[in-house]
Amino acid sequence: MSELEKRVAELRVTLDNYNHQYYVLDDPSVPDAEYDRLLRELQQIESEHPELISSDSPTQRVGAKPDNGFQEVTHELPMLSLDNAMSDDELVSFNKRVQDRLNTTENIEYVCEPKLDGLAVSLLYENGQLVRGATRGDGTTGENITLNVRTIRAIPLKLRGTETPERIEIRGEVFMPKAVFESLNEEAREQGAKSFANPRNAAAGSLRQLDPSITAKRQLSFYAYSMGLVSDDFKLANTHFDRLEQIKTFGLPVSSEIKLVKGAEGCLAYHQSISEKRDSLGYEIDGVVNKVNSIELQEELGFVARAPRWAIAHKFPAQEEMTQLIGVDFQV
Ligand code: NAD
Repeated sequence: MSELEKRVAELRVTLDNYNHQYYVLDDPSVPDAEYDRLLRELQQIESEHPELISSDSPTQRVGAKPDNGFQEVTHELPMLSLDNAMSDDELVSFNKRVQDRLNTTENIEYVCEPKLDGLAVSLLYENGQLVRGATRGDGTTGENITLNVRTIRAIPLKLRGTETPERIEIRGEVFMPKAVFESLNEEAREQGAKSFANPRNAAAGSLRQLDPSITAKRQLSFYAYSMGLVSDDFKLANTHFDRLEQIKTFGLPVSSEIKLVKGAEGCLAYHQSISEKRDSLGYEIDGVVNKVNSIELQEELGFVARAPRWAIAHKFPAQEEMTQLIGVDFQV
């Protein structure tokens, strides 16, 4: 084995380990910035040496396989991750790639959304009734958490309106409001119990409980941000923004911070304004998700292994340093 192959193998083992701790145990052992650094190193090596890419590499996969405490759910449409832009320059390059692929110099219309720091869930409604809730898992197979999502007040058990599809899958983020997170950790400290590392881990740990009465006490919330499978005979809007409006008419909550902008400049201005508002929001966000608005253009752009080509997560600079993790126990 060459030195490079050894490094690739080592990175894969380490990242698989971190993924298991983060996604299955909800108990990360390193800050996100460290995980991201190693993942980028692996991506860089693989992009320079495509012969080293393997389908089981962490760069090609989403999340981790579900925990065996839950029943498995197979996603009819895979639940993917998002590519990241770590700087304004990377966002500009993303926009350029989109324009090049679409063979245009016109300004692309984007929907800018806060990147909620929780966990992705899929909600299946049949004849207007919530029949199943699932985690993303490894993107193909998630966990059946129906009883747990039923305890979240923001998630309607029945869709509103007369014009609802026979079958619709709503996707969105379950998160823990900052105030709930703070009081939960305060309570844990008073009782000398373990505290959570951050609202994301608190939300994941609370939602993936085998006892739904614990989830119910954790006051989780939810924002919808897309649709999965929808019955063929239902007339869907042809832009992402208007689909979010349709989701609202079904009685599901959608963030009021979502905006329609033009081009990379519009995305950067939104990123700047939301980062100024970040501390005053009642929930944690770790960046902005920019999505091409036209569904036709989304379809033309398609997907790569683990993420769509029509969306990017423009992250805020990493806040989480190791010093914040030292001395803090995590609770699942
Ligand atoms: P991601 O969190 O970077 O982006 C994808 C996710 O964004 C989606 O699955 C969805 O849950 C979420 N999201 C929030 N708002 C959204 C919106 N408006 N529209 C669409 N999606 C939205 O990707 P990921 O693959 O879930 O996780 C990667 C992150 O997890 C990185 O930040 C990484 O550092 C962290 N991580 C850390 C460790 C560790 O050990 N510390 C291990 C694994 C992953």
